[in-house]
Formats: sequence, C-alpha cells, structure tokens
Amino acid sequence: MNQNRLLIVGNWKMNLNVQQASILVHRLHERIRIRRDIELVLAPSMLALQPLSLQIDRRKFRLCAQNAYFVDEGAYTGEVSFSMLQDLVHYVIVGHSDRRHKFNEPLEMIRDKVAAAIRNDISPILCVGETAEERKDGETKQVIHDQVTTALSNLASRDVSKVVIAYEPVWALSNGTDYSHHEIPTPDIIAEAIRAIRHNVSELYGPTAAKEMRILYGGSASASTARGLMESEGVDGLLVGGASLNYQEFSGIVDAAYRMQTAISGEI
Ligand code: PEP
Repeated sequence: MNQNRLLIVGNWKMNLNVQQASILVHRLHERIRIRRDIELVLAPSMLALQPLSLQIDRRKFRLCAQNAYFVDEGAYTGEVSFSMLQDLVHYVIVGHSDRRHKFNEPLEMIRDKVAAAIRNDISPILCVGETAEERKDGETKQVIHDQVTTALSNLASRDVSKVVIAYEPVWALSNGTDYSHHEIPTPDIIAEAIRAIRHNVSELYGPTAAKEMRILYGGSASASTARGLMESEGVDGLLVGGASLNYQEFSGIVDAAYRMQTAISGEI
C-alpha cells in the first residue's frame, strides 16, 4: 500500500434527494470517527453538493462530484463544468463505467475530463475496468492499457500524482442490485489488474509516479468484504457504490479500515 493512507469513496450515483442526503451525512457523522490515515470522500448528486458542503465536518469528509463537463463555460445546456465545482469538491469521478457504457463517453472525452479536472485543481478519480465479455475474450490488459494511457496522455508529469485510479471491473459492479451477494474478484485478479495499471502509468511517467499513484478497487464492496479487498496487493482504498447508501454498511467499511490501519500501525 502507498503512503499508508487509505482512501474510501462513497459513490451515491443517482440516489437520494437533498433531504435524504443530509440525513445520511448526519448518520455517518454520528458513527464515524476521524483518523488521520483514512481519507473519507462522499460523492452525492450534483444537487446535494452545495448544501452538504455546509453540513459536513471537513475534518471527516471531503466531497466529490460524480461527473462534470470538460469545457469551462459556454453553450452546453444541462452541463456543469469543472471550474464551477472548483471550490466545492476535492475530487471528481471520471470515466465511470456508467458514463462509458450508458452515456457512450469515448476515451478521448474521458482524457479531456481528466485534463479539465487538473486544470481546475480537482483530483480526478479515473475509473477503468473490463466488461465480462472483454475478460472472457482475454482483453483485460489491453482494455486497461487503452483506458489508462488515453486518459493520462495530456498531463504534465507534475500533475500525475493528483490522479487517483479506481480499478472497477464492470462485471463486479452491483448496479444497485444486492451488492452483498454479487460476485467479487479474487485478490489475485485485483492484484494483477492493479499491476497492469501501474505498469501503464510507469511507461508514461516513470516508476516513481507508478508506485505513488493511489489505486482503489471498486465493485460490490460491503462491510463484510472490505478488509479482504483492501488487503489485496496494490490496493490503496475502495470506491463503494451500493453499500455507501446504507450508513451501517458504509460505517462498517470504515470500521474495517480502522481495524486494518490499527493492525498495521501496531496500535492496541
Ligand atoms: C460503482 O459503481 O462505482 C460501484 C463501486 O458500485 P457497487 O459498489 O454498487 O458495485
């Protein structure tokens, strides 16, 4: 694990209105304690970002947008730009499989979004990962290569450390179904994919950038599977979908991270 700091991100997707989002944050505040070696990030709907920015204890949580448009302003009806989010969020999710597959976002658009995030001082959480069919056809490494190298190709070396990558095999995502019964990859599958990602980053920006890159795992993580997933080789944290909507599950994931960090640091 890099830097000995875990990053856990809750992606609420298109769920919870502003009031429901506020209640969830209230419950999480009650249950979750601050720990310096765990960074917690919430990605509510665009609409809830502003009110939650006034509600959250910033020592506990950072905010993340789920998407943004790569042009800073102009005639793009319905879009919100990275520059509009600048003072509101630390992170933006880019290249989520929902965006790639349901909204047909091409590799080049994702590259432009990564660049726009960096330009506006926001860290992109770049999601990459293969579909079930691509895995079956032996294309996993090629898919990851194409997604990583295109997305990172317009960056200056000094900006690469601001990027977080999430390995999210599309076949492991719960898609809002029962995440606790969904298939999750073995630690070996996760470790192999993450090695491939670091290799691609190394080819572009060198071994130090690759080693320091924070890489998350995402796909049907729950309180009961979190520790094993976080202990998989190369994993620096989790991107959590379905389970992040349930305060007991999400705080259970954070508890697992606490226990893991406590064990690593040798605290009693
Ligand atoms: C996701 O879609 O980013 C995700 C991780 O979802 P889930 O945990 O529900 O599989």
